[in-house]
Amino acid sequence: MNESDSERILYLLEKEGYSRTNVIEKSDIIVINTCTVREKAKNKLYGHIGNLKKIKEKNRDVLICIGGCAAQDLKENIIGDFPYVDIVFGTHNIPELPELINKRISSGKNVCSIKKNGFDPDVLKVKRNYKFKAFIPIIMGCNNNCSYCIVPRVRGKEISIESGKIINYVKELVSQGVIEITLIGQNVNSYGKNLDNPCSFSELLDMVSGIKGLKRIRFMTSNPMDFSKSIIDIIKSKKNITKHIHLPFQSGSNSILKKMRRKYTREDYLGIIYEIKREIPDCSITTDVIVGFPGEEKKDFLETIDVVKKSRFIRAFTFIYSPRKGTLAAKMDDYISYTDKKRWFNELVEVQNRISYEENNKFIGNKYKVLVEVISRKNPEILSGRMENNIIVNFKGTKNLVGKLAYVYITGARTFYLTGETIT
Ligand code: SAH
Ligand code: SF4
Repeated sequence: MNESDSERILYLLEKEGYSRTNVIEKSDIIVINTCTVREKAKNKLYGHIGNLKKIKEKNRDVLICIGGCAAQDLKENIIGDFPYVDIVFGTHNIPELPELINKRISSGKNVCSIKKNGFDPDVLKVKRNYKFKAFIPIIMGCNNNCSYCIVPRVRGKEISIESGKIINYVKELVSQGVIEITLIGQNVNSYGKNLDNPCSFSELLDMVSGIKGLKRIRFMTSNPMDFSKSIIDIIKSKKNITKHIHLPFQSGSNSILKKMRRKYTREDYLGIIYEIKREIPDCSITTDVIVGFPGEEKKDFLETIDVVKKSRFIRAFTFIYSPRKGTLAAKMDDYISYTDKKRWFNELVEVQNRISYEENNKFIGNKYKVLVEVISRKNPEILSGRMENNIIVNFKGTKNLVGKLAYVYITGARTFYLTGETIT
């Protein structure tokens, strides 16, 4: 979602006559689009803003703008801590950025603009990083109340984008040469519930998949709580819906899941996993996991490891619990030491990495369609792309393949990617 917002910010600035530079010292305007989902992201932001002080001292005219989730959370405190920051804008204020810039220049005063309600993003008003693939936000905000999570506070209540609008956007993108889209939201499965013309997520997928010329449809994130069999059915029945489901489970312990307010049990979760594996055997499943939630004990952690072993995820995004001010979990007693949490975390990473490696090895010797995304920065002869199941494949090839679907024969496996050769 942040990447998608950054594409929107870039579009607005280019319309105002700015262009992108890689040399920070030469910038007229510096925008940091922030994350605050974990404390580490916030700390990093403070480091970055601190580093900008020297740049501002050398060039008083450079405009420093801080946007996104941390801005939404910290508001004018950012200017209080760093008076040389010119503009703070929240997650719902992105369309206003050009106005805020003018206001800052004409008034000579710092500006902080934070709205509470979501905006309806115009998917076409973005400067996309890729010509052939695009993110499409379909649902903004989140109505859940997971006790550890700051997202609902900084992203607001759920707002779905009208399905007709999404279809028109996708058609327009396809006419511009896009062959892969990713439908994004904090909880895509609750898409469409509050629309004037209600439309379920699987109905939306059905409509989008009918758009001619669209080769791949991805979506994320799915919440186990709202996951329905209809998603499995639609993936099975439509060739251009990719066989990859990102299904965060967070913890394998029922008592921790309850404290997290996740509204499903380990049995519910494993039930979904087994069903996906049974119905779509070549579907890849990825997940998010939190280690060290307040009150988590060794036995809870072992249940998390157990779910990881039973699910055999292709990839898991693992996090050490990070208390976020204002969330319910931040007030819970937390008596496990950070050292223990870190040890458990390392243990989990080790188990998952082994599984990823073993699962990746199963692809060796077969050929797959890969959407070629980029040329390697380290070696211009190496291309990198993704298989339908979202696994990255690096292989030797020429740059004319970028943006195209190529058949690749898999020759090797690493923990996080595969290697291969093009088939001519
Ligand atoms: N809406 C998605 C998740 C969005 S946040 C969902 O419900 O699955 C992305 C991931 O960050 C979460 O899945 C969770 O694993 C992690 N996360 C969120 N808050 C966290 C916190 N306070 N500490 C550690 N990890 C956190
Ligand atoms: Fe956060 Fe839970 Fe909403 Fe995901 S579903 S964004 S974890 S509150």
